[in-house]
Amino acid sequence: MRRTRFVLLMLVVLTFAASAVVAFHRHKQTADILAVSDKTSAWTLISLETEYLKFIQALQRYALEEGGSDPLRQRFEILWSRIDVALEGKESTMLRQNPDVRRLVDAMRVALAELEGMVFALEPGKTPAYERIRDRLEPFALPLRQAVGSHFRGREAYANRDAADEVHQEFGVYLFGLFLSGMAMIVFLLLESRKSRRQALHDSLTDLPNRLHFSSHLKATLQQAECESSIFAVHVIDLDGFKEVNDTLGHAAGDVLLKHVADVLSQDMRANDLVARLGGDEFAIIQTGIQSADCAAKLAQRISESIGHEVDVFGNSCMVAASIGISIYPQDTENPTQLLINADMAMYRAKASRNLNFCFFEPQMNSAILRRKALADDLRYAISNDELTLVYQPVIDLNSNRIVSVEALLRWQHDLYGEISPLELVSVAEMYGQSIALNEWVLEQACAQMKRWRQSCLPPIQMAVNISPGMYARGQLVESVTRILQRNGLRGEDLIIEVTEDTTMRDIDASPEILQGLRAQGIELALDDFGTGYSSLSHLKQLPVQRLKIDKSFVQDLGQAPHDTQFIHTIIQLGQSLGMKIVVEGVETVENLGQMRSHSCEMVQGYYFCRPSGPEEIARRLAQQSPEERGAVGLCEPEEHCALVSER
Ligand code: C2E
Ligand code: MG
Ligand code: MG
Repeated sequence: MRRTRFVLLMLVVLTFAASAVVAFHRHKQTADILAVSDKTSAWTLISLETEYLKFIQALQRYALEEGGSDPLRQRFEILWSRIDVALEGKESTMLRQNPDVRRLVDAMRVALAELEGMVFALEPGKTPAYERIRDRLEPFALPLRQAVGSHFRGREAYANRDAADEVHQEFGVYLFGLFLSGMAMIVFLLLESRKSRRQALHDSLTDLPNRLHFSSHLKATLQQAECESSIFAVHVIDLDGFKEVNDTLGHAAGDVLLKHVADVLSQDMRANDLVARLGGDEFAIIQTGIQSADCAAKLAQRISESIGHEVDVFGNSCMVAASIGISIYPQDTENPTQLLINADMAMYRAKASRNLNFCFFEPQMNSAILRRKALADDLRYAISNDELTLVYQPVIDLNSNRIVSVEALLRWQHDLYGEISPLELVSVAEMYGQSIALNEWVLEQACAQMKRWRQSCLPPIQMAVNISPGMYARGQLVESVTRILQRNGLRGEDLIIEVTEDTTMRDIDASPEILQGLRAQGIELALDDFGTGYSSLSHLKQLPVQRLKIDKSFVQDLGQAPHDTQFIHTIIQLGQSLGMKIVVEGVETVENLGQMRSHSCEMVQGYYFCRPSGPEEIARRLAQQSPEERGAVGLCEPEEHCALVSER
């Protein structure tokens, strides 16, 4: 690359030099042409002067009676012809352009015309006519001489010589100018190439080294570490909650936040370390001069503490957190690309865990990636062949002690990997573009099960289905749900759609519209895992949800921290004051139940009542619900209900 640029520069310089030489030759040719033209004029004048002198000589001889009248007349006619040439000849054009010469030749012509008669009538000897002719012509001798002199070697010739000298001087100036512009061009090109090289290697927003720079620095660091037998760490840092800031406050706010993070990271670095922005909200650090993995852990901890502070962005206080993955050379790998991949895998592990800020790479993470790929391949087949199953967990109304709804929960028994957790299953589907197919499958199966229960004349409870972000943001959720409800003869009121705070933040502008579309069908909307996501109260206010499902972590933490009881109480009060139904998840013990009752909680879900179970178990429990309870909530008698279902 450098050599190409050098060759290009040399070409530019040579082109300049060649153009200078050509320009010089052109100037020289012009000067030569000018000189030749001037000499031609001089020759015309000199032949006029010669003939003038010869005529004067012939005149003197005639006066001394040495020559006859014929040579005298001959000379006179030749002199005439020279005057004609000077005044009309083509080669004398330049001569005539000189006003002094023109005046001289014109005067000679007038004189000759006056003298013509006298010359032809002249008698030999020094007659008065001879005297008059001589006196009339004598004044022309000196001007003629001067004109010849100035044209041949005189003023004009000198002028041309000056012109030639000027051409030489001009050429010098021209060359100097070319040299200067060539040099300026070279300097400019060098500066430009330095600038574009810097731009190619740095991120324009944060001015940190970019991925390209990072990769080449990583290779160099690795080679040095190899020679010195030292160790170093690669940190990959991803921001949690950055997307939400970008979505809610706009890209300008996101940019401010990224610059702030870049500053924070740069402050923490030593001279030989490198901080880079790999793209988006992903940064990386090469940490050298460490003795053990502990040093890397300390740096990661420091980074996560300094990033995890509130930052003021355009008057809004924003909070992001860092998920950091670390891989160590040479213990994890000796390959630079793999070092980065390993740190990336570790970062994903840290991100997935709710309580780890940073995570070291472990060899089994590689197999975790392979596992996800294998699951993704098998999931496609499992969906189309109904190899997945749904279990259902009842939601209990604490006033009536009866099941008012069930939540459909996914299960997958994989041939190789055994039981796959629904969280992993959903994240694989999201990652490999299968979320719409999976969500539609769950909706279809859950609604079909509702229909079967109703056909079995069981009390009509509501069915809650979880919807994942991919379906929410990209799928035709409202259309799919409407179609599936119709196909199974159910009403919108029979269905509860559960979305998490994070899901509704995915497409924050479209969110109210999607949820309103579902509401228009009579479908009830629940905000799941409330209190664990990133949404704000203003976001909550915008969403048309009727139900808050308080995450089980709040119940399970009860009694561990002093404000826990107050906390869950406040959330329940908040939801109720917003007119929402509250469901508390994770009620496992009789104590949990007592606490929920004391907080005036209306509905609970948890192992204390029933674990997620197959449809038969739910049917059995529903069937056990006493007719009074059914009557108490205004449900129809089994027979009556059967009639309703078969009508649809
Ligand atoms: P979720 O929607 O909050 O579901 C409740 C989870 O809490 C279920 O876990 C349930 O088994 C568990 N649970 C209920 N009561 C208790 C309790 O007393 N103690 C404890 N420790 N856990 C309890 P599960 O079935 O493992 O599902 C986990 C998550 O996976 C769900 O959380 C939901 O976010 C997701 N998920 C499950 N099925 C689906 C699905 O069909 N579609 C989508 N998109 N996500 C699903
Ligand atoms: Mg749920
Ligand atoms: Mg939940």
